[in-house]
Amino acid sequence: MSEAMMDFNDSPEQANYRMQCRSWLAEALTDFDGRRPHFPDFDVPEVMAAARAWQSRKAAAGYAAISSPRGYGGGGGSRIEQEIFDQEERASPAPFTDVFDIGLGMALPTMAAFATPEQKSALLPPLIAGRDIWCQLFSEPSCGSDLAAVRTRAIRDGTDWILDGQKIWTSYAQHADYGLILTRSNPDVPKHKGLTCFFIDMRAPGVEVRPIVQMAGIAEYNEVFFTGVRVPDAQRLGEVDGGWSVALSTLMHERTLGGAGKVRGLTIADIIEGARKLQIGDVPALADGAVRERIADWWIDMEGIRLNYYRALTLLTRGETPGPEFSAGKLMSGRQVQEMAAFMLDLSGPSAIDIGDDSDSAGLAMEWLMAARRRLAGGADEIMKNILAERVLGLPVEPRLDKDIPFRDLF
Ligand SMILES: Cc1cc2nc3c(=O)[nH]c(=O)nc-3n(C[C@H](O)[C@H](O)[C@H](O)COP(=O)(O)OP(=O)(O)OC[C@H]3O[C@@H](n4cnc5c(N)ncnc54)[C@H](O)[C@@H]3O)c2cc1C
Repeated sequence: MSEAMMDFNDSPEQANYRMQCRSWLAEALTDFDGRRPHFPDFDVPEVMAAARAWQSRKAAAGYAAISSPRGYGGGGGSRIEQEIFDQEERASPAPFTDVFDIGLGMALPTMAAFATPEQKSALLPPLIAGRDIWCQLFSEPSCGSDLAAVRTRAIRDGTDWILDGQKIWTSYAQHADYGLILTRSNPDVPKHKGLTCFFIDMRAPGVEVRPIVQMAGIAEYNEVFFTGVRVPDAQRLGEVDGGWSVALSTLMHERTLGGAGKVRGLTIADIIEGARKLQIGDVPALADGAVRERIADWWIDMEGIRLNYYRALTLLTRGETPGPEFSAGKLMSGRQVQEMAAFMLDLSGPSAIDIGDDSDSAGLAMEWLMAARRRLAGGADEIMKNILAERVLGLPVEPRLDKDIPFRDLF
């Protein structure tokens, strides 16, 4: 069997593309020593510099936003090609570029759908090339799952809008140049009908970003405060009070980001490797029947997640909109990574407590500490279950008693 035929899920064209990606990655990564932290901390200048350099290199070769149009700095390819490249990149020691994920995965498609041609020409190429970082300013202290309840006010003032309020959980806001923001423009109508979306300059007067340090010692997300922030109406995305449909489009792309098996993290291969090294008594843990049974269960789940993810991708390539497929994948993969990390920590024993070095057990401890966030980011587990209950199982929808009441009267 030739090397190009090894990935039996690929068509011959896809197998060729995969080999092309693999050889480009091997060539482009000869400069990198392959040493990476367990998790990227983009507050560390070297980590950020490596991310920007790698992103720019991918952009120059057409691999930075493969399925986006060439005119804006994308690669002009298909979603499947993007997926193939992502798989190969994840298997390589490429520098982490998570700090660009929101820009590429959410801001780019939202801007492509709602911004003017001039805005796209000005803003998308630097986003794709890793010069500009974008963030998503949706969640607030009093709304996350119930996103339509945002309170950050946008009040019209001539050709501008004035923004006041607070966002929270805003990933990478401390590094961001631009943000997509969902605001309350009209409190006199039901909550979904009085929202307006904008893109904003994160360095505009009145924007204050306060990083939140997580239990693993990294500050990935932030509180962001808006005090009299002036935003030109030209930066509005979609209709006045029509922000909910813009937000839904962004959220659909968010689901494809963390949807299923796409996120980096512990893999079955890592677990097998770890169980081979760790001992139970004086035999490798991998020889233990109970350990093997757990690994087999996870492998089966992972296959389900993977195939389900491909089903969703197939819908996307046909121009259809996947929904519950991504919810199922997100629900299963978030839970699984957390379970696998906890299991491996148990096997590791006391050495797992030390997270301060580059050892395997330190990596596991970080995996475990960071795993919980997957079960909230991009939609909490319970929300995924609600979607599956309603859209797959056909169970009665959740009562939504507030949907016809003016937002102002809800409190
Ligand atoms: C790592 C990370 C990064 C994030 N990055 C961003 C970002 O960049 N930008 C951004 O805007 N947001 C971001 N978020 C926020 C994320 O979208 C929210 O945390 C998520 O939507 C949940 O909202 P919440 O935290 O307000 O929890 P809540 O909505 O208050 O939920 C609290 C609990 O109640 C449960 N619950 C809520 N409603 C229901 C219901 N109807 N039925 C059953 N159970 C329910 C939830 O499942 C959860 O367990 C991020 C979150 C994390 C963890």
